[in-house]
Amino acid sequence: VPKIQELDASKLVVTLADPNARQVPDEATANAASETICTDHMVTVSYNVESGWGVPELKPYGPISLMPTASVLHYATECFEGLKVFRGFDGKLRLFRPNLNAKRLLMSTLRIALPGFDPVEVEKLIAKLVAVDGAKWLPKDRPGSFLYIRPAVIGTQPQLGVQAPKQALLFITVSFMPRMDSPAGGMRLHTNPEDMIRAWVGGFGYAKVGANYGPSLLATNEARARGFHQILWLYGKEAYCTEAGASNFFIVWRAKESEGGKLQLLTAPLDDKLILDGVTRRSVLELAKARLAGEVEVVERRYTIDEVIEADKEGRIVEAFAAGTAFFIAPVSQIHHRGTDVHIPLGENDSGVYTTKIKSWMKDIMYGNEQHEWGVVI
Ligand code: PMP
Repeated sequence: VPKIQELDASKLVVTLADPNARQVPDEATANAASETICTDHMVTVSYNVESGWGVPELKPYGPISLMPTASVLHYATECFEGLKVFRGFDGKLRLFRPNLNAKRLLMSTLRIALPGFDPVEVEKLIAKLVAVDGAKWLPKDRPGSFLYIRPAVIGTQPQLGVQAPKQALLFITVSFMPRMDSPAGGMRLHTNPEDMIRAWVGGFGYAKVGANYGPSLLATNEARARGFHQILWLYGKEAYCTEAGASNFFIVWRAKESEGGKLQLLTAPLDDKLILDGVTRRSVLELAKARLAGEVEVVERRYTIDEVIEADKEGRIVEAFAAGTAFFIAPVSQIHHRGTDVHIPLGENDSGVYTTKIKSWMKDIMYGNEQHEWGVVI
């Protein structure tokens, strides 16, 4: 039996683009473009069931070709990741906890019956791509800026029929992404329509598969048309709060007197497998546990929208924010749920005291103001 090749970043074959062929746009121009502007290079690795993972290639950014019968185009055999590379105030390039994204990519990949790999190899491929494109696309004279890294795995086997694809492609691009944190006046959330849920117990809401996102757009469009930014996804007849758009959701509130009356940082738990195990979520929880100990109790538990509405009526809500790679830490000012509005104080500079603290701790790690093991220098 021939040996199946494992994914091996050390085999990377590099073909460089002409460095003068494309100019780096400024952030405003890039963000105004209707097409995502990617850097000069991308990484691709193909897989087939007979020989395993092929030789990883770093090559000029451009189209990939697929047959119209490719698995991904019919059966949503697709998953992806999103992380950023930061140009630090010390001039260095950093990734933020890329090992977590690589592990999550593996988890999502296996959930849709695509081939597994050692996540450390994916992390190495990301680092290599960023090392090649970072100097030009994230210049040293733009400290405090970032680019967005999008690894993805798709089923490419050109055969119709519902089956695990025997061929796959892993690819990584690096691109501009608009800064999406903190809309003026805070983020306004609208709960999902009763007949549109994002995830369910036994489903795949915890995996970063494309199939979670396309079907969420309808509800998001309706909410936008009503002047809201994102959907607060509720679950079950109890209406548990889960996530906000493509980000995790946090509330800082004072618990009821009957429950101890403590200041708590509250978010939905992972055990129901309804929500994504966000890298930002995890980091917020870990930092709050370490740095707000004794001041704020960190709580991961199921909580309902009715509890939030009740807390609002009793004046116990202190702050709320959405947390994710795209929005980073975005203060939430309003939640609309079937005729009821919860208004959350934004605080000075449109951001609550704890929201601001957590955000600046994370920024300091991302941009190298604080040397921390989460900030991986490239
Ligand atoms: N929930 C969902 C559904 C998401 O798509 C994302 C973005 N990846 C998040 C939460 C936040 O995760 P992270 O902090 O890793 O970006």
